[in-house]
Amino acid sequence: MNKVLVVDDIKDNIMLLTFELEDDGFQVLSAYSGEECLKIVEEHTPDLILLDINMPGMSGIETLKHLKDNGQTTDIPVIMVSANNANKDIIEAIDLGAHDFVAKPIEYPVLAARMRSALRLARALFDLEKANFELNKYATTDSLTGCYNRRQFFSLTDSEISKAKRRDCKLSLIMLDIDHFKQINDQFGHAAGDKALVSMCELCKSVCRDSDILGRLGGEEFALCCPDADIDGAVKLAERIRIECENMKIEHNDKVFSLTISIGVTRVVRSDVTLHEPLQRADAFLYNAKHTGRNKTVSDLDHGIKMTQESSE
Ligand SMILES: [Mg+2]
Repeated sequence: MNKVLVVDDIKDNIMLLTFELEDDGFQVLSAYSGEECLKIVEEHTPDLILLDINMPGMSGIETLKHLKDNGQTTDIPVIMVSANNANKDIIEAIDLGAHDFVAKPIEYPVLAARMRSALRLARALFDLEKANFELNKYATTDSLTGCYNRRQFFSLTDSEISKAKRRDCKLSLIMLDIDHFKQINDQFGHAAGDKALVSMCELCKSVCRDSDILGRLGGEEFALCCPDADIDGAVKLAERIRIECENMKIEHNDKVFSLTISIGVTRVVRSDVTLHEPLQRADAFLYNAKHTGRNKTVSDLDHGIKMTQESSE
């Protein structure tokens, strides 16, 4: 049932409209002033407001301004009502965002048609916003694991790199790759492989800070951008993830398996222009971890990169 708020300083006007609206299946709320209207809107969030222009105290136009300035109420359709068809008021109200205008004395069938139109539009806008939200989610996240997809990870991390350089803050990058992932798929099936990816992501998210950015770069390869983390902090985090992964038991179809990950960690330095450079270093460390036994973390600290990079700053 749609909720309509009727705002008018004259009680009889409200009563008359209430009968017709209730007959038509609306739930009716009423307010006798602009101030009362704002209070009721906050408490009851009506689907539509019929707002008298001429009221003592806060006028209809002023009330409309408040409604449209407030993010919580700006989308509620408002139909202005007035006996005095002053074009100036009508134009101002519609420019401020009122959906429509009806003149007093109100011809109910005309008002009802305009209300249906306003409600249809509000519904369409709501659906559009919801669809946009879903589309944006679809375009930016990895559908299996729910972490960011490659494109969004690159975009968010590039802006973190610019921010860190501007503010002279630390930033570190972690690359993670599940060891022998193909064997998990071959031995337990692809659904088990998917479960391994999801479990690893959940583990990462549970250990990370909210400000860390986790992305799936492709296949079983993930990256983590850690704003404000120096290399020591990032290596500690990487090791925590690695050890917790090793200890995690993944259940699938009555079978239990575990996994290990190899990790490369680097810090972003002044000479890094985009994500490309630190990602290359982290990837080289990851490659090194894979080729020196897997289930380990290799970082700037192991390779003297810290010193080399520092001298270039
Ligand atoms: Mg009035």
